[in-house]
Amino acid sequence: MNTTARKHHEDHTYDVVVVGSGAAALTTALGAIDEGLSVLVLESTDKFGGNTAMSGGGLWLPNNPLMRRERVSDSRDEALTYLEATVGEPGDASNRARKEAFVDGIEDYITTTERYGFEWTRAKNYPDYYPEAPGGKIGRSVELKPVDAKPLGDLSKDSRALLPFPMMNGDMYLLTRAFGTVGGFFQGAKLVFRTLGGLLRGRRELGMGGALAAALAKAVIVDGKAPLWLNARATKLITEDNRITGVEVDNNGAPTIVRARKGVLMGTGGFDQDKARRLELQGVEGNPAGSPGALGQGIDMARAVGADMEYLEDAWWGATVQPVEGGLSSFIVGERSMPHSIMVDAHGKRFANESESYVDLGHHMLEHDDA
Ligand SMILES: Cc1cc2nc3c(=O)[nH]c(=O)nc-3n(C[C@H](O)[C@H](O)[C@H](O)COP(=O)(O)OP(=O)(O)OC[C@H]3O[C@@H](n4cnc5c(N)ncnc54)[C@H](O)[C@@H]3O)c2cc1C
Repeated sequence: MNTTARKHHEDHTYDVVVVGSGAAALTTALGAIDEGLSVLVLESTDKFGGNTAMSGGGLWLPNNPLMRRERVSDSRDEALTYLEATVGEPGDASNRARKEAFVDGIEDYITTTERYGFEWTRAKNYPDYYPEAPGGKIGRSVELKPVDAKPLGDLSKDSRALLPFPMMNGDMYLLTRAFGTVGGFFQGAKLVFRTLGGLLRGRRELGMGGALAAALAKAVIVDGKAPLWLNARATKLITEDNRITGVEVDNNGAPTIVRARKGVLMGTGGFDQDKARRLELQGVEGNPAGSPGALGQGIDMARAVGADMEYLEDAWWGATVQPVEGGLSSFIVGERSMPHSIMVDAHGKRFANESESYVDLGHHMLEHDDA
């Protein structure tokens, strides 16, 4: 896509300017395209997709239409009860209105994306992280069926997806037992046949977060014809008469002004790769497994125009392992609870339930470290 530097004096005016190219940004872009608006997507790194493309691509969507179609019981009330029980209201960012907006928006999210060719499937065995909490259940998460990256053309080379084959969330825990259990062996065989089947049909299929990023990029950039500028880092929001009217961009080294008639959406992700900021706010240096563009620049830009922030002291934690030879750390999930294994600290002491959710494990690691 467009990675060439653009000149300062060119007129770049769109209805909506979307900063970032992960799920938050591209989903908003798709919503805007669906409303008939013109969209520009800005991405600071040389690849699109952010943490989304590197992720498991599992979406926790309670009371979703797929459950209703399969006659799996859930309700708005149970979803909200679960959110109140697990999230509560620690600050305004998690207020009741936002929880309701999330739960009430799920139907439209699924049916709109389906109109753009997204094929969702339920991760039937994936539990809520606190299934025992009021309103908790198993099987509320959804993921995309394998997505063919071929229609993306050259753009597919610019994806931040990690895995070049269609692994799905349902494969993961059984694959770790591929040579130890019958169920694991069949799951492994299914993945091999799925990959080969796709190749035989001339497809280059991706799964998990790679599939989500590819499906969004196809709908927004290929079919929706929204330009994607790579290596285009948004640096400042432009305000006029107390309204945000555009954004300043470092576009491949060229300072560029982009105007937005309707608005600018900040989908710039978190700050996992900004160690200095994590040390300052959370006291944790850590070994993040996220994308290199997650530097918190959107937070600074939003604050500069008066935005309030909450919860920066906490995070979506998880255990990672560091490669011996350097490079990106790997997020470990299923590996933690493999049969006959335990996790120990530097003194050989077990300190947590290896099978608890990654967020809880992260908290327990930090608490244990403090102690
Ligand atoms: C290994 C791993 C597995 C995960 N699995 C799951 C899962 O299964 N389910 C789940 O719900 N969550 C999962 N997560 C978390 C999830 O991936 C993130 O919460 C989610 O992808 C964030 O989406 P986003 O669109 O907000 O940000 P991102 O996807 O990170 O996208 C932000 C983009 O903005 C770009 N950007 C940043 N600053 C600028 C700037 N100034 N100008 C232009 N662009 C900028 C970044 O480079 C990046 O491409 C996982 C995370 C990891 C690391």
